[in-house]
Amino acid sequence: MTKKYGMVIDLHRCVGCGACDLACKSENNTPVGINWASHTTETYGVFPKVSYKHTPTLCNHCEDAPCVRVCPTHAMHKTDEGFVVHDPSICIGCKSCMLADPYGVIFFNKEHAFLDFATDTSSAVKDGTFSKKELSDKAKAPFPNFNAARGADGYEAVRRKGAVEKCSFCNHRVAKGLSPACVVACPADARIFGDLNDEKSKIATTLRAHKPTVLLPEKGTNPKVFYIREYN
Ligand code: SF4
Ligand code: SF4
Repeated sequence: MTKKYGMVIDLHRCVGCGACDLACKSENNTPVGINWASHTTETYGVFPKVSYKHTPTLCNHCEDAPCVRVCPTHAMHKTDEGFVVHDPSICIGCKSCMLADPYGVIFFNKEHAFLDFATDTSSAVKDGTFSKKELSDKAKAPFPNFNAARGADGYEAVRRKGAVEKCSFCNHRVAKGLSPACVVACPADARIFGDLNDEKSKIATTLRAHKPTVLLPEKGTNPKVFYIREYN
């Protein structure tokens, strides 16, 4: 049977540390302001009786993905294994996918990302701090935390100006038998990634043992990111 990938996020385990967000940025070279992985924090109660609800967010890799349906060039497309992925080489930047996406997890690159690391020679403290260009030169990379392997996997290491970008469930890593970067980085083991079609997989047994929820179920998108054990 073909694999169908999904993710479970255990809200009892998530401590809202943001390690997943940072791991995603490093893995996928996302620029400032573009966060494929993020999280919201809601506060309940009145001091000193306060509680927090952290909800990690990312592309939901919906079965009935509205962004895929409206894309005129098939740049946004769904693979047989259930990944909703994007091909920047045929994206015309029309933003139809962004308008159709109810989750706000597709981003538009209006500038050439990280170009300032090649051009900005100003420093915050003259002769005291490095400029962006000096940092980039010392790191011998387009920008200091550049993950060159991201480009070696058949994807553009940095997405181009005028195109959109979004979480790919790290399918370049999954193809090599690895888990998505956010899953590996989580110190609380709050994220489970795997094959929903394998009834013995950890994700399938976890989903059977709990009553999962999804974000915006009323939109009928059939998300493949599930949440379990909500506190509030
Ligand atoms: S790394 Fe894990 S614990 Fe930290 S915010 Fe992300 S999901 Fe929650
Ligand atoms: S912005 Fe690109 S991916 Fe989005 S709908 Fe237009 S062509 Fe498709």
